[in-house]
Amino acid sequence: MPKSRSRTLHAAPGMHDLLPAETALWERIERSARALAEQRGYRLVVTPLLEPTELFARGVGDTTDVVEKEMYTFEDKGGRSLSLRPEATASAVRAYFDGGLHQAPQPVRLHYWGPMFRYDRPQAGRYRQFFQFGVEAIGEAAPEVDVETIELSRTWLERCGLTGVSLQLNSIGDEVCRPRYREALRDHFRPHIETMCADCRRRFDTNPLRLLDCRKSSCEPYQQGAPRSIDFLCEPCAGHHQAVREELDALDIPFQDNPRLVRGLDYYTRTTFEFWAADLEGAQNALGGGGRYDGLAEVLGYNATPAVGFAMGVDRVVLAMQRQGVKLAPRPTRVWLIPAAEGAAVEAHKLAGELRQAGWEVGVVFGAVSLKAGMRQAQKSGAQCVLIVGPAELESATVTVRDMTAGSQRQVARAAVLDEVDRVLGFPEEDDAPNPTWTKAGAIAETDG
Ligand code: AMP
Repeated sequence: MPKSRSRTLHAAPGMHDLLPAETALWERIERSARALAEQRGYRLVVTPLLEPTELFARGVGDTTDVVEKEMYTFEDKGGRSLSLRPEATASAVRAYFDGGLHQAPQPVRLHYWGPMFRYDRPQAGRYRQFFQFGVEAIGEAAPEVDVETIELSRTWLERCGLTGVSLQLNSIGDEVCRPRYREALRDHFRPHIETMCADCRRRFDTNPLRLLDCRKSSCEPYQQGAPRSIDFLCEPCAGHHQAVREELDALDIPFQDNPRLVRGLDYYTRTTFEFWAADLEGAQNALGGGGRYDGLAEVLGYNATPAVGFAMGVDRVVLAMQRQGVKLAPRPTRVWLIPAAEGAAVEAHKLAGELRQAGWEVGVVFGAVSLKAGMRQAQKSGAQCVLIVGPAELESATVTVRDMTAGSQRQVARAAVLDEVDRVLGFPEEDDAPNPTWTKAGAIAETDG
């Protein structure tokens, strides 16, 4: 075999696998994210991972780092420029219009969970493929909806068991008041711009708000004393900001006014917010953020439509959970079956199927050399109830059901097994949720799970 072929292969830089030790936790926080979103009427939207490059160039802004430096862009076989999505807000707005949701009752509330791609320098908390949980409320300008999204994201972080998270809040105005603010920023930075980094020199012309965002030591000192956007807000923007602040106060949601919070993407207007974790360092401390983007729809060529949303970085939330020692309690499979006779495996398959249908998670110990070895294996796996199908049981169409906690067992008729397991363990827990049952072709019945 040629040498190049024998080299072992690994995931691409900045991309990683999620193995079962992690997926249990991921699945749990995903479930809670979706449940919180659904409770507030944010329904699932799934958009393509690949979009026309222009969607991001126009929507996110072609002077942003995300579009300028970090996109995975290629030409497909038809000569179209496509990009892996670096974020999902522009896609959600496109889908809202493409799918005719602008004709539905407003606002339309959407949520998503999925991978995003940015070609950035990989480090802890910064990856080239990372996951975001986000929501978008499209078609409503009221400040109460800003607060709804803030409350939702904050509640999710709480449900993830995180503490020491601060909510940073700002308003960057709109196209009426922002031009004056941009000029004030240019006036402030002009005397220093030649000593600032190349990115900042470019931002000075294209997007001076981003001068407040730079984390380089050559630039940060000049941010001190820079004009604050909230001092430049026009009356409607100031009223909106005041309403958001008052409502957060009334709901006992603490926040810090942060005049430097401009967010990296172009489409934000008025409210911007981020959640910062005390346990993550430097630029990686933002667990997520969001804000209002009343101008985005128009930039994409649609009718002007107010909207607000957030995107939380799932990888970073998990990292913060690990740093804070938040763990998911292990959830062992509680019911185990041991086929311990010639021909008992088929019976075990059938019995396990019936128990699973009734809502139990069931493991089967296949291949044990003896009943004793099988029992040991089941015990190690956390069994609370063990079902034994040995020669005597096969012969008499019975099953031995052992209560591992009490250390007692009963041999019951095959037909009475389910009742006996219920007696030993109580009813299936929420996590032993039954599979959905098909009621008719194409329809899934809702279950309590
Ligand atoms: P943004 O809208 O760019 O502020 O992204 C929202 C959130 O996504 C950030 O606060 C991070 O938690 C997360 N995020 C953004 N970029 C990355 C990345 N390269 N790797 C991991 N998480 C990221």
